[in-house]
Amino acid sequence: MQELLKRLTTTHYIKIERDSAVLQNRVKVDPLIKQLREAIFGEDGRNGGSGESRSRLPLSAPALDLYNAIEERVSEVWVQRFQRVPGIEHVEELLAEWAEGLEPITFVMHTVARYDRATKTVVSELTSTTVLAFLMQIEQDIVNLLERPTTQVPVTGPCPAVGCFATTITRDIDGELVTRPTLEFTREQRSGRTISVSCRTCEAEWDESRFREFAEALGRAERLR
Ligand SMILES: [Zn+2]
Repeated sequence: MQELLKRLTTTHYIKIERDSAVLQNRVKVDPLIKQLREAIFGEDGRNGGSGESRSRLPLSAPALDLYNAIEERVSEVWVQRFQRVPGIEHVEELLAEWAEGLEPITFVMHTVARYDRATKTVVSELTSTTVLAFLMQIEQDIVNLLERPTTQVPVTGPCPAVGCFATTITRDIDGELVTRPTLEFTREQRSGRTISVSCRTCEAEWDESRFREFAEALGRAERLR
């Protein structure tokens, strides 16, 4: 469990394979939670506390959703253990403090939010899990997201699809209403190339071959606004 906690909360080393595993190198990497934060906002500012970061426009909406969900989960179990309001800003510090001295098999009660497609609402459930499983889930969620080949970038402006014209979309994330631009570019994580643009309100999508059409329609929609 210490290794797992280290990967999540401290700067650590990972092995990378080079030249068909003949050479194995150790590379120093940031805590996974910090990597996730950087996936949302770009490089951490000098005092990149979550409070300050929130006022910036997120680069990746899914990363923001996940970061918020993890922050919520960690704060919740921290408060249960220490019975006071956490005074630390970064989630990795909270998590390290919380897990310190806990046995891997200690049971943790926490709520998880799940999006119910049928009712289109966020449903919260109380869950019991061990400390180890709790940490593993957080790691898995972050790794899955960081390895995603594409990233979403919000675009301001009205959706030019016929009958839509939405500019923002509001969603309930962990009981908090979050408003974002409805239009999003899907970009390849590695190359930064934009592969499509879509609307989260009406689900219209334009691929590369229709970018010109999209730009013209967007121009018309903006003039009509
Ligand atoms: Zn739309």
